[in-house]
Amino acid sequence: MSEKMKTAVFTDIGQIELEECNRPEAKGNKALVKIDACAICTWEQRVYTGVNKVEFPFIGGHEIAAHIVALGENVNKEEWAVGDKVVVGATLQCRNCFFCKSGNSQSCDHFNHSAHLEGMPHKGMGGLSEYMLVSPDCMFKYDKVTPQEAAIIEPVSCVVHSVEAAQVQMGDMVLVIGCGIMGLLHVEIASRQGASVIVSDVNEERLKIAKSMGAKYTVNPKKENLAERVMEITKGIKAQVIFDTTPIASVVEDAFQCVSNTGKIVLYSSIHPAKKVPFDPGWMHSKSIQMIGTANSNDRDFVRAARMVSEGVIDTKPFISEVYEKEDIKAAFESAVQGDKFRVVVNF
Ligand SMILES: [Zn+2]
Ligand SMILES: [Zn+2]
Repeated sequence: MSEKMKTAVFTDIGQIELEECNRPEAKGNKALVKIDACAICTWEQRVYTGVNKVEFPFIGGHEIAAHIVALGENVNKEEWAVGDKVVVGATLQCRNCFFCKSGNSQSCDHFNHSAHLEGMPHKGMGGLSEYMLVSPDCMFKYDKVTPQEAAIIEPVSCVVHSVEAAQVQMGDMVLVIGCGIMGLLHVEIASRQGASVIVSDVNEERLKIAKSMGAKYTVNPKKENLAERVMEITKGIKAQVIFDTTPIASVVEDAFQCVSNTGKIVLYSSIHPAKKVPFDPGWMHSKSIQMIGTANSNDRDFVRAARMVSEGVIDTKPFISEVYEKEDIKAAFESAVQGDKFRVVVNF
């Protein structure tokens, strides 16, 4: 009889419960990891609230910190050992398509949040479980920080990807719109690239946090005109890079007002509800403006994010708003969907 484990399963909109299932066994080229902590991303919150449509039953969780408990017979023992602390990521890439093969697995053609991972009882990313069977391709070592802090490495990896896609240069004036966890991570990473960062958010408390994380200027668009303030701060030159981290389509029109000649607008967030926005192609042409979409992260981003967090270059502690035990998974989701937290983390 095989050993058992618990996994948290979405059974319907607004419904999540612990289910007992068989614990997978390490074999072949896969390792068995014990999950220590998993953070609840906006993506899982949208599954809970029914905005993201999935087929139930479904297992969420992709911001995962774990340690290796067993290695399959073909896993490279020079690289991996029982006890290694790892984050689990990049599990949904096919690693076969043109985009994966050419170093852009974050944009895999077969990216599928609802894949059925080996060893799991249902579809989904699997992190809200006690154990997972993981390919070494999807494990990234971390150390020196707690599993709760390490669970935030996945969001860091996505922002590493975004900031690199924008090619932020030393001396750039960068505008970050939105001071949720993703906006704040952009503030931290863009400042470390040598940029001077302006942040915009309607929440005064979050503007203060942004300042403590390296933002040079804060703008509250409820109280002042964002475009005018950016003109003032940059002495009429405007921003070289704008990261829009809000899900609101019309915000990109504010970004049009704030971007400098040869500037870049990075669309970081998914947009809810889906909506079209008009733009002037003649303006984009004559000012040499670039619009860039970015989503997810690849192996290279994960390796670097894991190192940045392990070495304390990025401190993820401020983003851990609450920690719950797995038995309280429903309460954890109820709290996370209030929208006033950075990350709610669940211990498994
Ligand atoms: Zn996430
Ligand atoms: Zn692919």
